[in-house]
Formats: sequence, structure tokens, C-alpha cells
Amino acid sequence: MINLILFGKPGSGKGTQAEFLKKNYNLVHISTGDLFRNNIKNKTQFGLLAKSYIDKGGLVPDQVTIEMLINQVNINHDVNGFIFDGFPRTISQAEALDSFMKSINMKITATISLEAEDSILEERLIKRGQLSGRTDDQDIDKIRNRFNEYNTKTSPLKKYYNSMNKLFNINGIGTIDEIKNRLINLINQIK
Ligand code: ADP
Repeated sequence: MINLILFGKPGSGKGTQAEFLKKNYNLVHISTGDLFRNNIKNKTQFGLLAKSYIDKGGLVPDQVTIEMLINQVNINHDVNGFIFDGFPRTISQAEALDSFMKSINMKITATISLEAEDSILEERLIKRGQLSGRTDDQDIDKIRNRFNEYNTKTSPLKKYYNSMNKLFNINGIGTIDEIKNRLINLINQIK
């Protein structure tokens, strides 16, 4: 099994590369952001709750997010592995993921961090907001708040996975194909 965590600030290309990795290695892609957006679109109770946090550029509470993630893993059987995109985003989510994985006899193969500077990410996000209509991508204050959330809550996870020798940094600047190739090279080395 290959179980990958994709890390990176908003706009770093997690979604794009996850789509590619999913096809290339036949993995199940779980994006917590996509799951929340689907719930919001379908106006579920869960979506309404998530929306109030997402609209401010903040994180949805851990308990809700963890439950949603575990549920998604549990409904997929006999798979080659998972790509976790946008999860975990806090230490408490990482700990919950570890103990859940242990309980079902699985483990994380690697945590891959896509690295890019804020100025480049801001440009990508504003462009994405114009194309997709995502409201959290259309306001520079919301974008900066998400960077801030990343720096304070998510970035400490790099140390957490590094101490387990599971962290791999990938340069997230370049063409989509260049970054794909960097990922293939890395995964071929570690799998
Ligand atoms: P991006 O990484 O581009 O900001 P995502 O699509 O991954 O976008 O997530 C969008 C929003 O969904 C986040 O800003 C956050 O509010 C919420 N979210 C996604 N994943 C999590 C998570 N693991 N924990 C808490 N909130 C989350």
C-alpha cells in the first residue's frame, strides 16, 4: 500500500498533483476541502457548519474534520492506498490519523510538502478564484488568513513527520509536468 499525505499552503498545487498521483498509482484521493465544498453545495448541516469557518479563511474544528476523514477511509475497501490532501492540518488531526491508521493496520508511507513562496501562491489563488468562483480565493485578507493558519497550525506538522523520517520537501514552482516528475522520482525512491 502507498499512503501519501500532501502538504502545502493554499495554492501550492496539492489538488492538481493529487489528481495525477491518484491515476498514476491507482490511489483513492481524499480531499477534505473538496468534501467540505460538496457538503456546502448540498446544504447539509455539516456543510453549513463548515461554511462559517471556511468563509473566514479559518480551519473547521478538528473533531468534525477527523470524523469526516475516518468515515471516508472506512467506506473504501481493497484499495492500493490513499492520498490525504488537506489533512491533517493540525497536530491533533495528525495524532488522530496515526492512531486510526494503527487501529486498521495501515501506515503513512510519506508526507510530501509542496513548497512555494507566498507571493506566487497569492497570484495563483486570485486567478483560481476568478475561474472557479471559490469565495475564499477572491479576497486577499481571507487568503492571508489561510497562510497564517498554515504557518501557525499546519507548519508544525513538518517537524512531527520529519522526526519520523517521513517528510519530503518538493519544489512546487515550475510547470505542472516538472512537478509531476519530481513526485514520481521521489515516490519511486521511497515505495
Ligand atoms: P486550500 O488548501 O487551497 O486552502 P482546501 O480546499 O484544502 O484549500 O481547503 C479549503 C478550506 O477547507 C480550508 O481553508 C479550511 O477552512 C477547510 N479545511 C480543509 N481541510 C481541513 C482540515 N483538515 N481541518 C480543518 N479545516 C479544513
